[in-house]
Amino acid sequence: MPDINPISTNQICLGVITPDCAASFAASRFDLVGNGAPSFRVVLVPKSRPLVRNPLFVFVPPVVLLALGFSLISQPGAFAPQHELVAQAINERRANQQPAQMLPLAKFHQTRLATNQGGSDFVLVNKQRPLQPLNYKPVNLREIKSSKQLDNSRGLELSDQAATALERLAAEMSAAGAGKLFVNSAFRSFDYQQDLFKSKTAQYGLAGALIRSAKAGHSEHQTGLAVDVSVPAQGCAIMQCFGDTVGGKWLAANSWKYGFIIRYEEDTTSTTGYTYEPWHLRFVGVQLATQYSKSGMKTLEDFWGYPAAEFYLEEIDSSTNN
Ligand SMILES: [Zn+2]
Repeated sequence: MPDINPISTNQICLGVITPDCAASFAASRFDLVGNGAPSFRVVLVPKSRPLVRNPLFVFVPPVVLLALGFSLISQPGAFAPQHELVAQAINERRANQQPAQMLPLAKFHQTRLATNQGGSDFVLVNKQRPLQPLNYKPVNLREIKSSKQLDNSRGLELSDQAATALERLAAEMSAAGAGKLFVNSAFRSFDYQQDLFKSKTAQYGLAGALIRSAKAGHSEHQTGLAVDVSVPAQGCAIMQCFGDTVGGKWLAANSWKYGFIIRYEEDTTSTTGYTYEPWHLRFVGVQLATQYSKSGMKTLEDFWGYPAAEFYLEEIDSSTNN
């Protein structure tokens, strides 16, 4: 009985079993069974138990946490957006010829990144999502710097972060031998876009203008994050054949490294509402552009799980009314 101190009227055992103590202990047992003359009373007092941690509680929780952490780290897709869900939704939509429905946020967390507020690199503007506010103007516009690698002789402006990114891109593009960029169009104000749309309407009629130009408040150029570029030496400026030039190919393959995407790719008109524009770069930041590029998605609408926006809502309303 190592845990028990026999305490008698004569002596007390304090943790150490001395010969005397052992004797009294033996006597106490004798007394307790009631088979002999009691010479002294014995009280059995449990020793205070030293704190002994159960090894299960000491070792198991860290091991479980380590294993859980390792399993998450070892699965690169653990926190990645579930692109297959989006791709599946797109395929279903195409099969049913129905507009895409917004995916549940829990299934595609990046949907939450998109906003229609001007000032965010994640702004999603299309024919059905006007900028907020409608006459938004970036506060950090600045002129894109001309250089040996970049011709901004028109003195056009972008939001500071997009301008900086474009300057880096142009330097790398030139160094790669893919050509010297020319800036054809960059930030366009609400008023400018309104005048542009009016003049297109006068020239081509409303239907023609709707294909060729965005309504004011619906243009990516008003965000300060979109830029139209060309490589004059290679021809095809602001034409679809630009996509086949050395410069156009380099941009399609490399612009994501600087935070840009080709916003209106081939065969995406039914989603974006615009025909193929290999010259229209949209700045979304390096992180998002990298994910977008890896995802294989071709439109921001699909990437973020937003409905297709081929037409303005007014167009849809008027066609159903007729
Ligand atoms: Zn453009």
